[in-house]
Amino acid sequence: QFSKSLGQNFLIDENIIYKIIDGAQIGKEDVVIEVGPGIGTLTQYLAERAKKVLAIEIDKNLIPILEGETLKGYENVEVVNADVLKVDIIKLIYEKLDGQKVKVVANLPYYVTTPIIMRFLEEEIPVKDIVVMVQKEVADRMQARPNTKDYGALTVAVQYYCKPHVITKVPRSVFIPQPKVESTVIRLKVLDKPKVEVEDREIFFKVVKASFAKRRKTLLNSLSMSSLGLDKEEIKKVLSMSSISEKRRAESLTIQEFAVLANNIAAIKKSI
Ligand code: SAM
Repeated sequence: QFSKSLGQNFLIDENIIYKIIDGAQIGKEDVVIEVGPGIGTLTQYLAERAKKVLAIEIDKNLIPILEGETLKGYENVEVVNADVLKVDIIKLIYEKLDGQKVKVVANLPYYVTTPIIMRFLEEEIPVKDIVVMVQKEVADRMQARPNTKDYGALTVAVQYYCKPHVITKVPRSVFIPQPKVESTVIRLKVLDKPKVEVEDREIFFKVVKASFAKRRKTLLNSLSMSSLGLDKEEIKKVLSMSSISEKRRAESLTIQEFAVLANNIAAIKKSI
């Protein structure tokens, strides 16, 4: 009945549902995209508070349940049968939500949490807030501080675009079937403009990924072995220009330091 491969763990606890919709501060002026409505439990509560809810569900077997039963009579809900990683979200927002900035609210399928969130953040989709249930470890990484084991490329990517804030921890018992891991509801308030100024966003994220790819190595080593196309001497030079010691490791760098480093790398790449 449930599709494990689609990450189907349905919520059965009204208290948690209220924490999610209160956390998202849904009001009558808000338009909401819900990813993976499942059988429509959270969707009904969203519909009662929001102006409109667009629910994107990949599993076609659930569509008759949503449209015929659970969401019958909710005129401000529209169900779209699609893969949220593939569908043209910007087009949907213009066609169905008048181009208004959306709040994304979801109990996410855990096997695709990161790609879904990164899609909403990276593709210039008009999003003002993301309130999602994710597995606890992922929430820990999203809100991590430098010099901790959870701090990594996902932390930098999320905090570049958003201010994360944990709403509540969630036990396994509020789902059917129960997932193997604990969960957390986290709010990612999208910043009006990214946290730091970078010359070239692609280079910035390349530098971040390359730095964390070999976590235990020094920045000098991990960056000179990366696909950035700079040799050891050039990396030494950019680190020195950025006032970052060659011996430091990725996990000690703040987002501001990554930005300075990436801007210097962008400059040196332009000059060669
Ligand atoms: N919202 C429901 C709830 O809270 O009870 C269901 C949440 S369940 C964790 C995740 C839902 O996402 C499932 O209904 C699943 O079919 C759907 N889903 C999985 N992958 C998806 C994708 N790529 N695009 C859209 N929906 C997806």
